[in-house]
Amino acid sequence: MTRADVQALDREDLFAPLRNAFEIPEGVIYLDGNSLGPMQGATRRHVADVVSQQWGEGLIRSWNTHDWIDLPTKIAGKIEGLIGVPKGTVAVCDSTSINLFKVLAAALHARPSRRVILSERNNFPTDLHIAQGLIDLLADGYELRTVATDELADAINDEVAVVLLTEVNYRTGRRLDMAELTRLAHAGGALTIWDLAHSAGAFKVELAAANVDFAVGCGYKFLNGGPGAPAFAYVAPQHIKDLRQPITGWFGHATPFNFVDDYAPAPSIERMRVGTPPILSLAALDSALDIFDGVDMLALRAKADRLFEIFSSVVVPECPELELVTPLAPNQRGSQIAFRFEEAYAGVQALIAQNVIGDFRTPDIMRFGLTPLYLSHEDVWQAAHVLVKVMRDRLWDQPAYRVRAKVV
Ligand SMILES: *Cc1c(COP(=O)(O)O)cnc(C)c1O
Repeated sequence: MTRADVQALDREDLFAPLRNAFEIPEGVIYLDGNSLGPMQGATRRHVADVVSQQWGEGLIRSWNTHDWIDLPTKIAGKIEGLIGVPKGTVAVCDSTSINLFKVLAAALHARPSRRVILSERNNFPTDLHIAQGLIDLLADGYELRTVATDELADAINDEVAVVLLTEVNYRTGRRLDMAELTRLAHAGGALTIWDLAHSAGAFKVELAAANVDFAVGCGYKFLNGGPGAPAFAYVAPQHIKDLRQPITGWFGHATPFNFVDDYAPAPSIERMRVGTPPILSLAALDSALDIFDGVDMLALRAKADRLFEIFSSVVVPECPELELVTPLAPNQRGSQIAFRFEEAYAGVQALIAQNVIGDFRTPDIMRFGLTPLYLSHEDVWQAAHVLVKVMRDRLWDQPAYRVRAKVV
């Protein structure tokens, strides 16, 4: 594929006009939107306005006059549209980790005779750590059982209370068959929790069609909500009424502003909430999500697949030392491309020095997010050629590139 070929694709690209909505520094090719989505100009302006007008001038009155109180519900509506679920099933609050704690505890409570949480080895650490901490806290014979991906189906048995999985693996980009694994879990009498950190905003997610019980997801990756953006939790409609969420804060109460002594959960999804919503962070997420309005997620995904083909067709033949670990079949992968390389950390530093930003995941993964809203075909072609140069000329082979930063 030549530069002229990819430029031709860019001329026909439906998403090209959206690119200018993002304020990406001149010269940077940003392949890390799967880790921290970039900022939009509209988001920068909206947050500035919320700070100076709504907070600065409106002060506490803004809870009502600017409807701060219903901001989480407004944002939940936007996310519900992206993950294929009905209104009133998503709460926007806390972090992914904390929401996982809440839904996992609730799910275990709903399967009282079973003691096993089944998950995948090499799942994202927080998913496993939260399960371990909850098991320790409950001190009631629970067990976290992790198996290899291909052993999941066989591991579902009548001991399993909850199957806790991440749809897209953060290292390899492998995507699990959510509908099929959910079907198998239900056939075995278990409930399911899906972590959508690398799914929401990356492709069309159909949680309700897959009959998923619970899900959690992240606001700052493909949703571009800003560093540490609020996360979300989904609870299937049939579970909301009896949901026992363990962090019983006043914002999950049926009547928080009656200030009563005894906890009574809100009858709705709002019982997932804990404390006062972080309005500045919510304002950023609210504004960031507007770009998805009118986006055809199938077309978005089709472009991501083309970006994958461009990147792999340039890199794979030229760089035998890089092992492609992301599945080639489009329905078996998320929206990233990842390679195994012994000096992956140094390789990523050398790329960043060339203004191509990707990231490293221990021990040996170089990972590149493919985000069609703001990446052109030419960007990805260009980035792939920079990677080829970094490998061919061994630009990574410098002591400075082996010094690990605190955040990788
Ligand atoms: C990024 C990510 C998270 C993040 O959790 P936080 O609580 O926001 O730190 C959780 N799960 C997966 C699979 C992730 O990729």
